[in-house]
Amino acid sequence: MFAGKTQTTAWAYAPLYETTLFAASPIPQFGLAAIALSFAVCIVAWCLKRVPIDLGFAGAVIAFGIAMNGIALPQVFPVFIAAGALILTIAVLQDTFRMAFRDELTGLPSRRELNERMMGLGRRYTIAMVDVDRFKNFNDTHGHDLGDQVLKMVAAKLADVGGGGKAYRYGGEEFTVLFPGKRLDAAVPHLEALRKQVVDYKLALRAATRPEKTQSVKRQRGAFRASKSVSVTISIGVAQRNDKLATPDNVIKAADKALYRAKRGGRNQVSR
Ligand code: GH3
Ligand code: MG
Ligand code: MG
Repeated sequence: MFAGKTQTTAWAYAPLYETTLFAASPIPQFGLAAIALSFAVCIVAWCLKRVPIDLGFAGAVIAFGIAMNGIALPQVFPVFIAAGALILTIAVLQDTFRMAFRDELTGLPSRRELNERMMGLGRRYTIAMVDVDRFKNFNDTHGHDLGDQVLKMVAAKLADVGGGGKAYRYGGEEFTVLFPGKRLDAAVPHLEALRKQVVDYKLALRAATRPEKTQSVKRQRGAFRASKSVSVTISIGVAQRNDKLATPDNVIKAADKALYRAKRGGRNQVSR
């Protein structure tokens, strides 16, 4: 009854290459090649996307390979199959967590994580709301892809903000910076530095956003390329906890009002 089946799978057991190198392994060469290929695919995926779950898959493949190699040994096979399953479980859990608490575009923690963090704040903290100026206009002029690049750039600066500030993507082109244990006066200089870093950053315009190449444009292309860059500005509203603003929600609302004042005051500024 099994003879027919064995014949249809016999090709999988046929050596791919004449060598004595893997002769001791119970895994046929085809299986070894499949394991090596799977491992390579996981590593390449990890190099490209840097998402930890791919490392988890790579680890599980290795554990599976070791298990299969020791299939006849009771101290090897069950242990490594269990290890592979454990690696997979942890990788999937970690990835679920990452998706829930990290913003995909900017890599900053998301609003969900901000909400969690806000529950454990003490009696002193400062919150800043950050908004990219005239961003709808920017998208309309330069395209959504360059808009996304702007958000990534702003997020990178925000992630490095000083004064113990922790940045979150609140939504769209709005970000929140939390300064636990900090007074407003101590936080403002760091927000000013952030605002300045963003204005000073020059984003190069790519070919796709240039007009059709005419002869004259082609001739002066060098100069054209060097001169075409854009910058954006951000407005920031900041508020600190006090007896009247006793909850994080109230402090955020006050920071939002301050942000509105920064916009009305001409944008590219920090308001309190
Ligand atoms: P203001 O200076 O008053 O803040 O003006 P604004 O244009 O920035 O404000 P508005 O709220 O009118 O527009 C926000 C824009 O942000 C609209 C939307 O297209 C853009 N936006 C939101 N999320 C993203 C995103 O993830 N990527 C890109 N490229 N654009 C986004
Ligand atoms: Mg906005
Ligand atoms: Mg805006």
